[in-house]
Amino acid sequence: MTESTAKQNLLDLDREGLERFFADELGEKRFRAHQVMKWIHHRHVTDFDEMTDLGKPLRAKLLERAEVIVPQVHFDKPSTDGTHKWLLGMDGKNAIETVYIPDKGRGTLCVSSQVGCALNCQFCSTATQGFNRNLSTAEIIGQVWVAAKHLGNIPHKQRRLTNVVMMGMGEPLMNFDNVVRAMSVMRDDLGYGLANKRVTLSTAGMVPMIDRLSEESDVSLAVSLHAANDELRTELVPLNKKYPIAELMAACERYVRRKPRSSITFEYTLMKDVNDQPVHARQLARLMRQFGNALQVKDAAKVNLIPFNPFPGTRFQRSGEDEIRAFQKLLLDAQVLTMVRRTRGDDIDAACGQLKGQVADRTRRQAEFRKHLEQITGGEGGDAAA
Ligand code: SAH
Repeated sequence: MTESTAKQNLLDLDREGLERFFADELGEKRFRAHQVMKWIHHRHVTDFDEMTDLGKPLRAKLLERAEVIVPQVHFDKPSTDGTHKWLLGMDGKNAIETVYIPDKGRGTLCVSSQVGCALNCQFCSTATQGFNRNLSTAEIIGQVWVAAKHLGNIPHKQRRLTNVVMMGMGEPLMNFDNVVRAMSVMRDDLGYGLANKRVTLSTAGMVPMIDRLSEESDVSLAVSLHAANDELRTELVPLNKKYPIAELMAACERYVRRKPRSSITFEYTLMKDVNDQPVHARQLARLMRQFGNALQVKDAAKVNLIPFNPFPGTRFQRSGEDEIRAFQKLLLDAQVLTMVRRTRGDDIDAACGQLKGQVADRTRRQAEFRKHLEQITGGEGGDAAA
C-alpha cells in the first residue's frame, strides 16, 4: 500500500465517522472533528495547514494520517438559462456529471451516485454508457463540495444551494451505504445544512432498499414509474420484472406509513405514443388514487411529469405540448396533484436522462448488476436487466 492510499480521506466520513476517527485513531476530542468538518464543508479548505484553529501538533498528526481528496473538475459549463454542469474526474479514467439548476427562490443540485448505471432503462442516456462502479461517499459529497464552492455557498447566510436530488447518473439505492452517508453530510449543520425534505432520493424501484431507506434515513423519496401497467413498465424499466408495480406500490405505502406527513413523488417521463395516451393517464390516475385511498392521506402521491429529453441514438421522442397538457389535465381532474417538470439546461445536455460522463469499462454492466441484486435480494436470480 502506498502512503497516500493508507491515509483516511476525511470526505468519506460523516459526522459520526469523523468523531470516531478523531477519538479512536487520533486520540482527539469530538469537537476537533466538528471544527474540521466546518473547514471542509463551510469554507472549502482541504489543506490542514490552513485550519488555523487547530494546534500545530494536531495539524501534523492529520497530515500524517489523513487527507481531503475532492473530485477533479475536468470542465464546467454554464447554460444560457443559469443551469451549470460539471464533468468531474473520479479516478483518472471515469468521470461523472453534476448539474446545478437555479429556480425562483431555490437552487437544486442533481447529484450522481454511480459511474454509469446497471439498470438499462430504455429511455435513459446513462444506460447506454453501461456500468463501471459505485461512487464512494467522498465522490458523492464531493459533487456538493465542488458546486457549493463554485456558488460561494455559506450555510445560514444567503443560500444558493437549497436542494439536492439524487437524480444524476446511477441508481442510488444500489449504492446504499455511500449514498446514505453522503446524504447525512448534506443535511448536517456542520455539512450543508439542508432540510430533510430538500434532499430527495430517486429510485427506479429497488423494493427491498426502499424499506431499508425508511429505517435508516429521513429524506424525500421519488419513484420513477413511467408506466402504470406491468407490461409497458417492464419494457421501459427492466427492473420491473423483478419488482412489479404492485410490490413497488406496497413498498411506497410502507414508506409513507413509517414517515408520517411524508409523500412520494412519482416521476413519469412522457414519450410520444409510448406512454402518453389518455388510456395511460387513466391507468396512472387509478393507481395514484388507490395509493392515496389505502393510506387515507390526501396528496400522499405527487406526480411529476417529465417531457422526454432526447439524446443521440434514442428511438423515443418527446410528447407534444397538447398531449402533455391533456395528460396532466386528466390526472388533475382525478384529484391527483400533478406537475410538469420544465426542461432546463438542454442546450448543454444537462437535462434529466442526458447525463453521460465518461465510463471507462462498459462491459461490466451485467456481471455487476447480478452481483448487486444478489447482495440485495440474498441471491435469488438477477435476470431483470434483459
Ligand atoms: N436511477 C434513478 C435516478 C436517476 S434518473 C431513477 O431511476 O430514479 C432521474 C430521473 O430522470 C428518473 O425519473 C428517470 O427516469 C428520468 N429520466 C431518465 N432518462 C430520461 C430522459 N431521457 N428524459 C427525461 N427523463 C429521463
